[in-house]
Amino acid sequence: MTSNSPDGWTSTIMDAGQNIEWKNNISANVLLNPKLSSSVTQIIKKALKGDRISIDQALTLHDECDLPTLGRVAHVIKLARYDHNIFFNRNLHINHTNVCVLACRFCAFRRGPKADDSYSLSVDEYMTRIEPFSELITEVHSVGGLHHEWTIEHYESLFRATKNKYPDISIKALTAVEIQHLASLSDLTIKEVLKRLKLAGLDTIPGGGAEILVDDVREIICKGKESSSEYLAIHQSAHELGIPTNCTMLFGTVETIRQRLIHLDKLRALQDKTNGFQCFVPYPFLPDKSRLPEAQLATANEILRTIAISRIMLDNIPHIKSYRMNLGDNIGALALLHGADDIDGTVGNEEIMHLAGSSTPLNQFDDDLAKLIEGVGGIPVERNTNYTIFSIYGRQPPSDNRGLPLAHS
Ligand code: SF4
Repeated sequence: MTSNSPDGWTSTIMDAGQNIEWKNNISANVLLNPKLSSSVTQIIKKALKGDRISIDQALTLHDECDLPTLGRVAHVIKLARYDHNIFFNRNLHINHTNVCVLACRFCAFRRGPKADDSYSLSVDEYMTRIEPFSELITEVHSVGGLHHEWTIEHYESLFRATKNKYPDISIKALTAVEIQHLASLSDLTIKEVLKRLKLAGLDTIPGGGAEILVDDVREIICKGKESSSEYLAIHQSAHELGIPTNCTMLFGTVETIRQRLIHLDKLRALQDKTNGFQCFVPYPFLPDKSRLPEAQLATANEILRTIAISRIMLDNIPHIKSYRMNLGDNIGALALLHGADDIDGTVGNEEIMHLAGSSTPLNQFDDDLAKLIEGVGGIPVERNTNYTIFSIYGRQPPSDNRGLPLAHS
């Protein structure tokens, strides 16, 4: 944190709102389960000193530590960085097209160009989607399929039009594979694409498409998508051009626990070089009858365990998001006690997760979101896209008369 007022503060883009002395601030006051093995206890002590743990040590924690202890360790590390603050921003998801030349096996969203329900929003239609929310949001988050005809000029027009009309709305758009697709369709290098999009108004890049950064897994679940090293190289290029990005992990398909940890280790290694990742967003595969029937899926225990391990292992990525759109409100709230410090405050339409089976109510915003955060002991703090401006959200007290019948004893 770089400056403070009673209701808010600002930060640099590198500090991202955290206490940079967080490693000295971790409380040793974690109630350790006396039945834990000495190896688990040693690893926890190491993490609580702020020291980095290896893939093998993370695997031991994942497999041998009970969930309450693991969650508490992750939460203590989160408290050391952010105290009880829980961050959200107001964004609108617009999925600009569902037409995609690929067919990842987990994807419920993509359509072929000739499908009856395929769509591709024109620039005007895109602006019309923003209009009703323009006073509410600070960010538009846009990802979509790999359109067979849209070259870089389309996205330049889209971002320019958005910035011209809504200069205060930050544009977070295009996953790594969309950028790679654009480069190939437009006969440009990745860096040329990123430079032109930045000039047109692109502010940040979301983390989607990381899935699991192990090529054997990608071959099964998303054959044809960018490789692990290409995903990392695209994010590295963005970071080198001063474009902050997020990173994600889709888990619960066909990967092993070790492969999840290898994924985290690869993100951590890139972050050591570039320091350009702002937030890590882990989310489980949401199944249906038709896609990836062999997926192992993730239980609530597994989801919370994975979020906790992410916080403990990713010592250099500031924020861990509870992706409520995918986790649902109940597990989304619990994730805030297992290491997550950020939660999505999405308004309006979001199609990809909802087509994949999420039932989280949309338009649940402001007071309801604040209530969810306060319910787990958090302080709701609204942030901007880059985690440089923060303000504490003051919830309206509930009205006295809610019109509900009261039970009498
Ligand atoms: S996940 Fe993305 S790239 Fe893969 S099929 Fe769906 S829209 Fe296309």
